[in-house]
Amino acid sequence: MKIITGCKIITPRGILENKSLIFDGRIVAVEDAGSAEQSGAQVISAEGGYVLPGFVDIHVHGGGGYDFLDSAPEAIDTVLKTHARHGTTSLLATTLTCPDEILCRGIKMLGEAMKNGTEGGSELLGLHLEGPYFSSAAKGAQAITEQKLPNISELENWRKLSNNSIVRIDAAPELPDMDILARWVKDNGVLASIGHSGANAETAIEYLGKGFTHITHLYCSTTTEHKEGQVVHGGIVEAAYLCDDFTVELIADGKHIPKETMLLCFKIKGADKTALITDAMRAAGTDAERSVLGEIKTGTPVIIEDGVAKLADRSSFAGSVATMDVCFHTALSYGVPLCDAVKSCSLTPARIIGVDDRKGSLEPGKDADILIYDRDFNLKKVFVRGNEIV
Ligand SMILES: [Zn+2]
Repeated sequence: MKIITGCKIITPRGILENKSLIFDGRIVAVEDAGSAEQSGAQVISAEGGYVLPGFVDIHVHGGGGYDFLDSAPEAIDTVLKTHARHGTTSLLATTLTCPDEILCRGIKMLGEAMKNGTEGGSELLGLHLEGPYFSSAAKGAQAITEQKLPNISELENWRKLSNNSIVRIDAAPELPDMDILARWVKDNGVLASIGHSGANAETAIEYLGKGFTHITHLYCSTTTEHKEGQVVHGGIVEAAYLCDDFTVELIADGKHIPKETMLLCFKIKGADKTALITDAMRAAGTDAERSVLGEIKTGTPVIIEDGVAKLADRSSFAGSVATMDVCFHTALSYGVPLCDAVKSCSLTPARIIGVDDRKGSLEPGKDADILIYDRDFNLKKVFVRGNEIV
């Protein structure tokens, strides 16, 4: 048993002052400071700092020099450990659009990691397939060479290879045969998200009704108001704001989304519907200046400059190099209120992928995924299920 004393605890209902947090692998209790210190437990002083729920990143490709799709045996553990050191206590492993055999190999390795467990680091919550059913018109840095359309045998093959661990899939709903995917996600309890899409608002809203309830990195490879021929249409952004049932995510590395855009999103959607994500590629947590987006041998060469990955011709950003502590700081520096920033890094993403019964907030019974920040918001300690990450 461990006790964090002398801290301000950030909960979904506000900040609790002068409390102690008691935990083992799970949160046991939140008590008044001093009341629990006789129990012989290990005492950790927060020295007047803040205690937060661990961050939940629902869109991340890599870090520490590795991508989740790399075949190196140390790849998955290295990504998980790198992000854990920066406050991410659980995450979805995100794949991107790449050659079939690389994608299948990656899904299989991640499925095995889900079955066998991983060593230390952030908890792997499942797989997030970013593509490949994307529109080449909105590909961003996704390597789309041929237009792929949903088919059941391919989806079922991935589901089996993953040991039933696919939690989320992103697709462009304006493409043909998308009802096949809509049925498959419903049958398998998978979160469907609209991303890398040229859809207009009508199509986005139609597919909200078919179970596409999330928007992949809003403002990045999504549409806004536009003309089709001589007729004006709303875009994905307008649909996201209009429909309360949509949840959204923002790449909060301080590069992809300007301050006013993030604040507008918090104003309209609120912290309950807005998740902050890293969308980090392999160079996150390193000081590399050149890197590769995607699997190491078949991926796209990118440069890292001004704190973001770019395609070599600088025509597009190519993922972020942020970690979740950076996203949290970005939100604070933009003026997002503290409790909202915390929620969008923890409880909201946990709820979006359906793990809020055990992740996302510091409440008795939930996993002891805990961050200690000092008074100046420097990250001091990280606990994943009660174990300290060093
Ligand atoms: Zn991504």
